[in-house]
Amino acid sequence: MEAVTAPVRAQERIRTHRRSCPICESGNRDAAPGRYSRDGWTVIDCLTCGFVYLPDVPITTELVENLAWEKQFEAETNRRKQKQPIVQWLDQKTRWRLHTFKRIEGVDILNERAPSGPALDLGCGSGGQLLKFDERFTPHGVEISKGLAAAAAAAVAGRNGSVVQASSADGLNAFPDRFFTAALLRSYLEHDWQARDIMTTLYKKMAPGGLVAIKVPNYGSVNRMVVGSNWCGFRLPDHVNYFTKRHLGLLAQQTGFTMQASWRHTLPTDDNMLVFFEKQAAA
Ligand SMILES: [Zn+2]
Repeated sequence: MEAVTAPVRAQERIRTHRRSCPICESGNRDAAPGRYSRDGWTVIDCLTCGFVYLPDVPITTELVENLAWEKQFEAETNRRKQKQPIVQWLDQKTRWRLHTFKRIEGVDILNERAPSGPALDLGCGSGGQLLKFDERFTPHGVEISKGLAAAAAAAVAGRNGSVVQASSADGLNAFPDRFFTAALLRSYLEHDWQARDIMTTLYKKMAPGGLVAIKVPNYGSVNRMVVGSNWCGFRLPDHVNYFTKRHLGLLAQQTGFTMQASWRHTLPTDDNMLVFFEKQAAA
């Protein structure tokens, strides 16, 4: 079997570019590398709003070609095993804490609460979540990988849905404004270096009264504070944004949405959190 090139060595040949804070747009030129920087990747705390993010991110084509997320996941799992066998073991042994509440997915709540109409899964993969939308929705996806987009398109064909094979920005712009009544961003926003621009575009594409479900790793979790850099939410460099509930609230404000966050889906004991951004009906 061919060895997976670990990104820890790959970063030397990965081209990056500098970005501002995706929440408040501060340049942070003077920000010192934070304590979670490693393997040549810098993680900083925004000097203005405190958001934790990677200022230097791989350019998108590099991400697609050299840093496929599946490879990243494998490399990260191996890194953890080698570096911290006890922490890894504990992590596996304490998985029960993830199941304190029945796992509720964003799509379940969109099925309950979003108005009927066209529904979007941004970064839809092979279309598994798209098929979970109730019959009262028409499922549409955006996916950058050719193979996955083709599989998703085949999956939703029977429901009059569609899948655009493109980057998120181009994919969103393939749809009319004020179109979607529901949108799903599941394990998506932590990857997108243009998070704020994407949310601004998505706001335009949502129908008034439309609801967006956002699930991301919870940087404010107790587990992150306890295990530090071994927290499961750290994936460098493919997780470029580290959200707290407060920062998701700021992002909603900056992009026109109103955030709804229930205590039960944003528990500090959960490594992930689920919130909803609403486009007001009067908008
Ligand atoms: Zn900021």
